[in-house]
Amino acid sequence: MSDDTLFDKILRKEIPAEVVYEDDHVLAFNDINPQAPVHVLVVPKARFRNVTELKDGDAETVGHFMIGVSHVAAELGLSERGFRVVFNTGPDALQTVEYIHAHILGGRGMEWPPG
Ligand code: 5GP
Repeated sequence: MSDDTLFDKILRKEIPAEVVYEDDHVLAFNDINPQAPVHVLVVPKARFRNVTELKDGDAETVGHFMIGVSHVAAELGLSERGFRVVFNTGPDALQTVEYIHAHILGGRGMEWPPG
């Protein structure tokens, strides 16, 4: 498959990952190069390249994805103090894996604006 990415392989369990949460809609695992004390990637089981591919008909799927992000944050104990959710999208944002994913960053105070 020409668009087979690292995250497709992690979803198929062909490449190991430190999974922190899984349900029918999402898989969440620790980022291999963490940028905060907690840095988890949440990947929907439905495949999109990035945010630009989302269409009106995907509303239910995207809803499950975002609810999955909320579940992961709760599982990680981040809901009360807060956390950042990042969708790097395209070259200007330095997206490196062409499979939509949410970064959950937490466990420390954040700065704004981001780099
Ligand atoms: P992007 O730059 O596309 O927004 O995010 C891709 C993320 O995947 C990066 O934060 C990077 O550290 C992470 N990553 C790259 N290779 C691996 C890997 O093999 N395993 C895990 N768990 N994360 C990875």
